[in-house]
Amino acid sequence: MDYNRKEEYVSCNIIEHGFDAQIESINLCCRISKESLGSKVIIFPDYKGEKINWDTFFRITNKLRNIQRQGDTVPQCKGCIYLKKQKWENENYINTININNWIKCNASCIYCDRKESLHKKEYKIYPVIKDLIKNNYLRTPADITIAGGEPTITSDFDKTLKLLIKNNISTVRVLTNAIKYNKYIEKGLKKGLVNILISTDSGSRETYKRIKLTDKHSVVWKNIKKYAKVQKEDSLVKTKYIIIPGINNSKKELSAFIEHNFDAGIKYTCIDLEISFFIRENQNLNVLKQIYDLFLYAKNLGNEKGIITDAFDRIQLIENKLKFSH
Ligand code: SF4
Ligand code: SF4
Repeated sequence: MDYNRKEEYVSCNIIEHGFDAQIESINLCCRISKESLGSKVIIFPDYKGEKINWDTFFRITNKLRNIQRQGDTVPQCKGCIYLKKQKWENENYINTININNWIKCNASCIYCDRKESLHKKEYKIYPVIKDLIKNNYLRTPADITIAGGEPTITSDFDKTLKLLIKNNISTVRVLTNAIKYNKYIEKGLKKGLVNILISTDSGSRETYKRIKLTDKHSVVWKNIKKYAKVQKEDSLVKTKYIIIPGINNSKKELSAFIEHNFDAGIKYTCIDLEISFFIRENQNLNVLKQIYDLFLYAKNLGNEKGIITDAFDRIQLIENKLKFSH
């Protein structure tokens, strides 16, 4: 096979070069396409941290790439917005990784679905990433997301992030609740190799406690401020507010959230909507409009303070829905 040859067809970067470490399985992708309704391409089911045979991994993913090459679509990918026609390389390598196998957390958010997996056993991801680098299968620029659970409370996280930083691998995105400050995140932020997203979902200590079921509001904002101070670029430390109707959908709460961002030196934040509420009210345009107005309220407040406030996931979907309803 000519590895330098590029072929033009419809595919996505994850089908071509993805790797998704989930609880108890290695998958191809963590995203959900319109038609697959949550079914995933599972490469190694019942995975418990065994050494990965990369030849087998690429044999399986190449079968999927061939489906795309031949003009068809992998069933789990049908209707996905990430499919696009372009020239794809023939070579076997990975540049898009999602690490989502960690389960434990030091918070207990009322909307979190991880609680259902607390009885399951975590496997180590560090040896997998080390092996990937050793075999020269991890290529940069890469797009690596580390989520969880709360990544910073596992010892495997420090080792893994240290390894990625040492090998100058960028960009690594860490989804953390910032209850625990992490020196390797700090190191990555200073070098511009790491970016973080922290979802506080509140402006006041009372609401934080009500949502996260832990009293860490002040600690979290202190840590956010510390991270913001060391970041190489303004865009590396970003916060998030998930609107949970009935709990934090007040202008007072959003206004306090923007104020905390300003005090902490944050320049980028985003607003999302709690997923189960969105699914329930998906067709109720009046309700969606009220939520969107709250987003606009936060966006304007942010603008006044020099904070870019973006629509995230569900708010983006609402934005599109409202546009097309006129
Ligand atoms: S097409 Fe969509 S569902 Fe399929 S691998 Fe790509 S991002 Fe994931
Ligand atoms: S911080 Fe994240 S992982 Fe932890 S309980 Fe909240 S949503 Fe779940």
